[in-house]
Amino acid sequence: MTTSPQSPARESARDDVLLVRSATVVNTRDGSVTPGTDVLVRDGRITEVRPGIEAPERLRARVVDAKGLFVVPGYNDMHAHPLDQLPARSRDRDLRLLLAHGVTGFRQMSGSAGLLRARAEGTLDLPSDGARPLSMPGTVLVTPLNAGSPEQGVATVRQQHAAGADFIKVAMTTPEVFFAAQQEALRLGLTIVGHLPQGIDVVRASGIGMKSVEHLGPGVGLFACCSSAPAAVQPDADGGGEDKLKAPPVKLPFMDRLIDRMVKRLVVNPVNRTTPQAVDRMRRAVDTYDSSMAHTLARRFVDDNTWQVPTLIRVKTQQIADDPAFAEAPELRHMDAPTLKRWRKATARFARFPESARVTFRELYDRQLQLTHAFDDAGVPMLAGSDTSGAGWVVPGASLHREFDELGRAGLSPLRVLQMATLRPAEFLGTIDTMGTVEPGRLADLVLLRANPVDDVENLHAVAAVIRDGRYYSETDLTAIKNRATNDR
Ligand SMILES: [Zn+2]
Repeated sequence: MTTSPQSPARESARDDVLLVRSATVVNTRDGSVTPGTDVLVRDGRITEVRPGIEAPERLRARVVDAKGLFVVPGYNDMHAHPLDQLPARSRDRDLRLLLAHGVTGFRQMSGSAGLLRARAEGTLDLPSDGARPLSMPGTVLVTPLNAGSPEQGVATVRQQHAAGADFIKVAMTTPEVFFAAQQEALRLGLTIVGHLPQGIDVVRASGIGMKSVEHLGPGVGLFACCSSAPAAVQPDADGGGEDKLKAPPVKLPFMDRLIDRMVKRLVVNPVNRTTPQAVDRMRRAVDTYDSSMAHTLARRFVDDNTWQVPTLIRVKTQQIADDPAFAEAPELRHMDAPTLKRWRKATARFARFPESARVTFRELYDRQLQLTHAFDDAGVPMLAGSDTSGAGWVVPGASLHREFDELGRAGLSPLRVLQMATLRPAEFLGTIDTMGTVEPGRLADLVLLRANPVDDVENLHAVAAVIRDGRYYSETDLTAIKNRATNDR
């Protein structure tokens, strides 16, 4: 049968073969396009990409006319948290919302012993019409909870390694704990990614092998290295820009769940915990930003192959949380009432910051855009991520598209933005043979777009259809998935 991208929903069984006919294939390496190309998909993989492919006889084939449509690899949200959403219904809603926006894969940025076990046993039981997890850590390292001392940090890294974690994620630790955990992770052959602890020597962390820095720090994490007065920006390790976490008086078995609950409350908007001293440091970071130092830092990241995941939409929704555009965003209809209540409550709290603090947060965001541009100029490898599932005003799927817009606003080219969601994730994960391009051998996770994404970032939003694991979702199917998510919430 031949169907257009607007065709109605189909039965859920997968056809043997999917033939996407007369598409314009976008080369994510250089942005070149090849019109009139057919893409043949079998068993969830791309098997052929060339003009004039005939659907094999004797097989159940679905043929899609993609004339006028642009084929790109499925988008990947490289900083997301859907898997630890509870109940499972919320998790599945988030995974489906990702897919319905063209996001076929994601890097899960927080795990747990339970999640690692379920994955190893094959009992995760995720919906097939949702985004696929690409990589997952254990529980994030937090001082004083599961990484109170260097020894405990090392022990936690070993446990997570034994439990099958793909990498180690650091959230909030002291520099001593950070470096001890980093050394141990590297010794075990695991990469370590995450937040830079306050007062840390960024150059040292990068040089030893931190694989990715999230959220540009966060806070002023990177700005002390881009300041003409670094000492005025860099907090000392104990000085704190946020209130310190207190260790709960319980033993380890309950720790994961406790961390989970604590983190959930904190993550809606961590900027809410900014102390007046930290606001002052942000002010100085804004005022003493030095673009030649930013360039030097960028060169360092390039030399060390230290990746950046700016998650600008996350940074923006934290630092400009009271922008009415967020509270009025149409995608909020997908979220459930308790979540929206949490987000509004956190925003009401944010609005109580004095005007001068909010101006500083806003101006720091302008610097963060500038820094992102400087990194791109210097060739720092970067990934697109939204920090969705937990972060305030950050709706699964829709928020990655908002991230595209912010990256465009920072001055990145449309091709670069596309790469940050497709080719770069494959390079980062070492899976270039199975994803990141539209070529034979790659997983059949694809997006069909109505306009050339290399011409304009705006065109990345023009999703006409999605293919996930070889299964075709028309625009009607995608709308149905979104509506179901809204109704099920
Ligand atoms: Zn995160």
